[in-house]
Amino acid sequence: MSSESFRADLHCHSSCSDGTDSPLELLHLAKKKGLQGISVTDHDTLAAYTEEFFVEAKKLGLEVLVGVEFSADHRGHSVHILGYGMDPKAESMQKLQEHHKRRREKRNQAIVDKLEKKGFLIEDLPTEGVVGRPHIAQKMVEKGFVKNIREAFHQYLGDGKSCYVVLDMVSVPDTIEAIHQVGGKAFVAHPHLQISANFVKEVLKFPFDGLECYYGNFFPHHEKRWLQLAESKKLLISGGSDYHGSIKPNIELGSSWVDKATFDRIKSS
Ligand code: AMP
Ligand code: ZN
Ligand code: FE
Ligand code: FE
Repeated sequence: MSSESFRADLHCHSSCSDGTDSPLELLHLAKKKGLQGISVTDHDTLAAYTEEFFVEAKKLGLEVLVGVEFSADHRGHSVHILGYGMDPKAESMQKLQEHHKRRREKRNQAIVDKLEKKGFLIEDLPTEGVVGRPHIAQKMVEKGFVKNIREAFHQYLGDGKSCYVVLDMVSVPDTIEAIHQVGGKAFVAHPHLQISANFVKEVLKFPFDGLECYYGNFFPHHEKRWLQLAESKKLLISGGSDYHGSIKPNIELGSSWVDKATFDRIKSS
């Protein structure tokens, strides 16, 4: 295979967090979509990276870049940080994952309590993996409290809405440091979802290595804007679909990707 036809999706979620496909299913889907490389970037967990995962990827001829999407806070705003190329078993990664697990348990309970006060009883959230707002939103849909996930976020769960809860967040610099400590590279995820371009520039004053410039539902002019910013700040570029499986049916795996040179630049230490 020539390097010209190489495509790697560096942003997708498995059932280890809020995606609906298992890590192995993601590998098979990547193969089916004609991708040559993948990074599974679950929220706050590297649990997808089992021995079995690497064995299966090799069998399918897929190149793997270990990845994660950590939640962080800057001035009360949520910043998603993509970490790439770290050792998933490293102690500092384990510690950060455990912190997020406890943070989420407390936060999810607080959200459920707030919803209950409004008369929405949420039961039987998953007990395995990283559980987040999309799982709560899904339950609200199943119970008929809202029409769809979009409405659940728009009315209740979205940032700053009435049942939104923030607690025990990790700062942006602490998250970057944890990623750097284990030889990883830190990228600002989906900058267009931040409150403003100025906020993105402010966040980029921290020692990030790169910026996510290609994203599933970007228009070309969006990409150009972030590519120019990355170039002006001498940052690496990443890209991916942010595929979540059937919970976000409009986003396809491989709908955004990076080429071989970009993949290798991120992977090389
Ligand atoms: P959490 O990590 O539990 O705070 O949930 C964050 C996740 O919720 C994001 O990664 C998205 O997948 C999803 N999400 C956030 N805002 C919205 C929204 N307005 N509509 C649908 N999904 C959203
Ligand atoms: Zn998600
Ligand atoms: Fe995100
Ligand atoms: Fe994501």
